[in-house]
Amino acid sequence: MSDNDPAGRAVSARDSGRETAVSSEPITFHHLALHVCCAPCFLESYDYLAGLDPQPGPGAGSVLTSDGIAVQFETITAIYYNPNIGPEAEYRRRRDAFITYAGDRGFEHVVLEYDPARWIEATIDDTEFGTRCRACYDLRFEVVAAWAAEQGCDALTTTLTISPWQNQEAIALSGRAAARAAGLTWLSFDLQPLFAQSQRRARELGIYRQNYCGCVYSKVEGEQRRAHR
Ligand code: SF4
Repeated sequence: MSDNDPAGRAVSARDSGRETAVSSEPITFHHLALHVCCAPCFLESYDYLAGLDPQPGPGAGSVLTSDGIAVQFETITAIYYNPNIGPEAEYRRRRDAFITYAGDRGFEHVVLEYDPARWIEATIDDTEFGTRCRACYDLRFEVVAAWAAEQGCDALTTTLTISPWQNQEAIALSGRAAARAAGLTWLSFDLQPLFAQSQRRARELGIYRQNYCGCVYSKVEGEQRRAHR
């Protein structure tokens, strides 16, 4: 059983390890809070989680967690909260790409406050890649989880895990802690096989695709990497 499932359901959400499937019937969650990092990562993540993409899931509207548990959701709300993104013009560009895509399709979505000062405060003690990323995940998931709990959500996950550039283990640790603190169930999914398709769709749809993770540090690091190629 998950150590963060307040309802005590048989969700074996051991995010750091792989376990075999233990449920035959999908576990139904009332309301999934889906943290969204950007529109390109959102495309395939949402379709998979909503059961719209039949390829990798068990079918019939349910999907597998990374532990092989079939789950399904009555409602999904996509939540954009990314105070890590800078400069502000870049934030607005990414945010607006998400709003346009989600709005055009009628997907339930919300944008939380852009509060970059809070992100700076959360990461100021150690700005090294890795350490700052953990603090970055912590803040984003804490805020989204708190908002989700107020709205009556019972599960939390993120589109960040579709990206091969993100730290999957740190995401799971941060997500699980934030979910537990808010009384939600954290769910991990193996979304990375969908990454290429999600990027391809974004390109075809003309959706803005950024070339750095989000913070100004990652912008500089990316520029340095490209300069040394
Ligand atoms: S590189 Fe990405 S995950 Fe790491 S701190 Fe910057 S924005 Fe956050």
